[in-house]
Amino acid sequence: MTPTFELTDDRVSQVGALPVRRALPRRDRRTVGAWCFVDHMGPVDVAEDMDVDVPPHPHIGLQTVTWLLEGELVHRDSLGSEQVIRPGQLNLMTAGRGIAHSEEHTTKSRQRLHGVQLWVAQPSATRDGERAFEHRADLPQLDLPGAVATVLVGDLAGVASPARRDSDHVGVDLVLAGDRAVVPLCAAHEHGLVVTAGSVLVDGERVVPGQLAYLGAGRDELAIAGERGARVLLLGGVPFPEPVLMWWNFVARTRDELTDAWQAWQRADDERFAPVTSTLPRTLVDGPPWASPEG
Ligand code: MN
Repeated sequence: MTPTFELTDDRVSQVGALPVRRALPRRDRRTVGAWCFVDHMGPVDVAEDMDVDVPPHPHIGLQTVTWLLEGELVHRDSLGSEQVIRPGQLNLMTAGRGIAHSEEHTTKSRQRLHGVQLWVAQPSATRDGERAFEHRADLPQLDLPGAVATVLVGDLAGVASPARRDSDHVGVDLVLAGDRAVVPLCAAHEHGLVVTAGSVLVDGERVVPGQLAYLGAGRDELAIAGERGARVLLLGGVPFPEPVLMWWNFVARTRDELTDAWQAWQRADDERFAPVTSTLPRTLVDGPPWASPEG
């Protein structure tokens, strides 16, 4: 049986002043393993008057993974974390029952920005648990035939990231070193491939930034053809066993859980999220369409 290959097209969204390519979720593809959200921003030259800040906002039931290719941002959250992130480093924030954070510019952000923000759905075992944050300045790398791999989360060919993971999933940055790379895969995983620079050929199809190339389970390796320097984010995992419900910045299982989280955030002093030390105003949105106006 030939494993599934699907290529879905670009969808451009907006985060603050920055246009982003949203590869996931798609209407007919909500998750790849536990990965439930993929935004690719830039590369963009940041003008002096361009607002690149993402002010304080809440999350539940997910982990945010920030990975920069160029530029610099500072992360602040309601645990009191304040962490500058630079290319090659990983910020991993676990929301559990509730956390709030901001992503703000530094003086160096006012040059060029290029990066991805990913969400990982937390399994029921941890999604009501404690909030947490970790920064990984050194991630393991390995030389593959035709590519250099950096393991962000999970493991590739026995090389494991130190980053927390609550389910069986993997995230790898690949930089092509020649015109053809061969990447070992876990056959139990489904995979999604997002191009962050250049373009590549997978299963005979050209994949460009913004697209999601979905690869069904059952592959133990993947050949990627492209020019030297092309860059790819490979995401995989055991198909997520629970249906997830996403609205705004929340990942849950029921509408009531989403409504409860929104109401808690509306109450500025609610302990569920706790405040972020930031000069920026909190992000507020109208409630979910199914909630009555008075909640
Ligand atoms: Mn966020």
